[in-house]
Amino acid sequence: MADTHRCYCVTKHNAPLELATREVATPKGREVLVKVTGAGVCHSDIHLWEGHYDLGGGKKLSLKDRGIKLPLTMGHEIAGEIIAAGPDAKGAKIGAKVVVYPWLGCGECPTCNRGDENLCLKGRSLGVFIDGGYSTHVIVPDAKYCIDLGKLDAAEAAPLACSGVTTFSALKKFGAKIKDEPVVIIGAGGLGRMAMTMLKAMGGKGAIVVDIDPVKRDGAKAAGALSVIDGGAADAAQQILTTTGGALLILDLVGAASTLNLAIASATRGTEIVVVGLFGGEVTIPVPFFPLRPLAIRGSYVGNLAELTELVDLAKAGKLELIPVNRRPLDEANAALMSLRDGKVNGRVVLVP
Ligand SMILES: [Zn+2]
Ligand SMILES: [Zn+2]
Repeated sequence: MADTHRCYCVTKHNAPLELATREVATPKGREVLVKVTGAGVCHSDIHLWEGHYDLGGGKKLSLKDRGIKLPLTMGHEIAGEIIAAGPDAKGAKIGAKVVVYPWLGCGECPTCNRGDENLCLKGRSLGVFIDGGYSTHVIVPDAKYCIDLGKLDAAEAAPLACSGVTTFSALKKFGAKIKDEPVVIIGAGGLGRMAMTMLKAMGGKGAIVVDIDPVKRDGAKAAGALSVIDGGAADAAQQILTTTGGALLILDLVGAASTLNLAIASATRGTEIVVVGLFGGEVTIPVPFFPLRPLAIRGSYVGNLAELTELVDLAKAGKLELIPVNRRPLDEANAALMSLRDGKVNGRVVLVP
């Protein structure tokens, strides 16, 4: 009997994930077959499962309109072992332990050709548009998306593919300035803590962490923040200005109107603001701020293959400490997703078949 493949799929939005059992596929062309050893359950999976993003003010962005079709096996944070390769899968090593780059583009357009597949307009991300990691096996369309993990723990490395590369790519947008200037990090949740660890690994000067939650501020302080500031204080911007002498580098991991307004109010001459969070809302900015300060505001969305490779190399070199994860059996995929939705999860949950 051929090997069987088990996966937990979204067959209907807002309904429990369903177990499907199939024969394990044989990789064709440049494809490789990865036996999953860890698949992260990400907060964005909840939106996929629900079928929409909440834009605030009662507005919703439907995922069906973005071309997402059911049934879908979610899971874009995938680590595993290459167990088979198609005839044209160059460089695929059977038995290699890898993390999979999930933010796939069409592979043919100018954006993909310059290496920014994550920004391709015809994206086919794993676990979003094509079947992902809530599964025993995954077909990866090209061997080049498999990054060797060396001796790293697969379950701990899996989140590098999403929260890891997202914060890494955002911090890289500040360039070498992070070595001399502190980064003001707005949001001390999972991404915030990841950004602090990353900043250290990148040789950054340090982080000034802003959050409205005192528990998260204490956590950030204990984790080595240069200072922490209550983002809900009436004089929060003044406090940031006093601490930094005008914040030059600001990373907004929340992405709400209130946090972006706070970032703008804390800016000095030449400030760069990078927005990653997707909380939502709208801001009004006086246009002269752009040339006069001058002010730069840019967004950052996940990261590209080169960045994930660089990040995994940092971890393999022992420069980036991986964050402990909460392991759960694959068969608890639905329960794990529901506890994340209900806010009952601390840290990252990784499904282990
Ligand atoms: Zn994610
Ligand atoms: Zn493309």
